[in-house]
Amino acid sequence: MAAPLHPRYRIGVNVSAVPPATSSGPPVILDVAIVGAGPAGCAAALALQGSGLRVGLIEKAVPPRHKTCGGGVVARVMALLPAAVRAAVERECHLAELVHHDPGLRFACWRDEPIISMVMRDRFDHLLTTAAQETGTILFAATPVLDVVPGPKEVRLLTNRGEFRARYVIAADGVNSVVARKIGRPALRHVVPALECEVTFAEAAMAPLMQSARFDFGLVPAGYGWAFPKKDHLSIGVLTTRPGRASLPQEYRRYLAALGLGEPLHEERHGFMIPCRPRDDLFGAPRILLVGDAAGLADPLTAEGITGGVMSGQLAARAIALGGGDERAVMRTYRATLEKALLGELRVARLIARVVYGWPRIRGAVLRRRGQRASELLTSVVTGETSYTAIMRRPENYRHLFFGRG
Ligand SMILES: Cc1cc2nc3c(=O)[nH]c(=O)nc-3n(C[C@H](O)[C@H](O)[C@H](O)COP(=O)(O)OP(=O)(O)OC[C@H]3O[C@@H](n4cnc5c(N)ncnc54)[C@H](O)[C@@H]3O)c2cc1C
Repeated sequence: MAAPLHPRYRIGVNVSAVPPATSSGPPVILDVAIVGAGPAGCAAALALQGSGLRVGLIEKAVPPRHKTCGGGVVARVMALLPAAVRAAVERECHLAELVHHDPGLRFACWRDEPIISMVMRDRFDHLLTTAAQETGTILFAATPVLDVVPGPKEVRLLTNRGEFRARYVIAADGVNSVVARKIGRPALRHVVPALECEVTFAEAAMAPLMQSARFDFGLVPAGYGWAFPKKDHLSIGVLTTRPGRASLPQEYRRYLAALGLGEPLHEERHGFMIPCRPRDDLFGAPRILLVGDAAGLADPLTAEGITGGVMSGQLAARAIALGGGDERAVMRTYRATLEKALLGELRVARLIARVVYGWPRIRGAVLRRRGQRASELLTSVVTGETSYTAIMRRPENYRHLFFGRG
């Protein structure tokens, strides 16, 4: 995990609230142990509300903790979250701007409802964690899971505070998932490097960027740059879907120059990875359900991962609540519901991403003919008005995109 944010960009941390680590004492017995208090883990905990199960959220950090992220929460996932998290929203963007430097086009999409709500992840995740605690989930903070011992009736988790035993484990411990590693899952495929900067400029320089979510294509090789407005600074970042093809610090500098913002007054950089391809063997570990980044569920086109995290967390929780003691039924339900709600979508997104990032000529041709239409369709996906699969099922969309105009 990256270093903590400068106080300018974060909220207070009450470290004294954490009891000292101990490895002695009897094991903590849970029905469901959720590892990781990010969006995926908290969504799972919230979805287990009312199930009557004893749920523990085991988190290595002390909330609120820094998370390297653009902090853009798209409408389709905001709708799945408790209203309390809205207190973290620093700006609502009703306008999305998609700027294509090659072939030199700009498209603007407006919605009456916010398209993307801008948050800082320390506060957002903390509110989610608090909401989960309020539903009866027990939070074990400053408790990294160090080892995992699967068994036929329960899973043992070894931590710096001793042992936990649970009938089910939801692994929501992010892109570097210790749980996945300890149960022998191979490394994630297609992990996208990204550089995120919390950056402050003179007010007048930032003003033109403070109302919209801006995305710039055609500058970063096989990737894009983004400028997201926060309360009084910008989150600016770059990513590439072809690791090794770009030096992100250099691309970031070029992107700043293209935005014409001048010299930053304050800047803090964090690099991290986004897993844009689901694991091959997602369902192969009895009693252990991988969710969110730990499962590789970020969108391969947009690299947006909060949706995949929240949806998979909720589905894993519901599968456990439904299946109860029948471990096979739980895994079957998780597999079926994840396939229906998310994995099909991600496959289509991967196909589109291949064209967008790998075939610039085709992308350019589509943008010149039907750039506004393509931008509106993408906006409608992230707002939840439609889905990738629904778009691909309609032949008139191909006709419009490839042969139409406007
Ligand atoms: C630069 C960048 C920008 C991004 N921008 C966006 C964006 O604007 N919008 C968007 O939707 N997505 C964005 N993403 C992706 C998004 O951040 C992730 O997909 C999302 O956070 C995944 O949620 P998660 O709950 O699965 O994992 P995480 O948010 O990573 O949470 C994992 C949690 O597990 C804890 N943990 C880890 N190991 C252990 C352990 N051994 N024991 C106990 N706890 C552990 C961690 O401390 C953490 O709290 C971005 C990613 C990057 C890198």
